Amino acid sequence: MICPYCNRKPNEIPEYQQGAQENEMNPIEYVRMDEGTYHVQTDLFCCSDCYFSQGMPLNTELVQAFMRYRAKVVELSGWEVTP
Ligand SMILES: [Zn+2]
Repeated sequence: MICPYCNRKPNEIPEYQQGAQENEMNPIEYVRMDEGTYHVQTDLFCCSDCYFSQGMPLNTELVQAFMRYRAKVVELSGWEVTP
């Protein structure tokens, strides 16, 4: 689980660390429960900092971006294993 815009994981982002602590769960569980931008299929979310810096995109726009991100990563890892 990662924010593809800043490449940070929930446990590296203070707002989720804090939210997790308040709810006695780990930051990943907290994002799953509380972060509206979390997308199960791609296992990606957009943290608040990036959400605002991206101009508050709609969820449908985020999902499209997440899909593109995952497709690119698959493509890149495909290149790596190809001799
Ligand atoms: Zn981010």
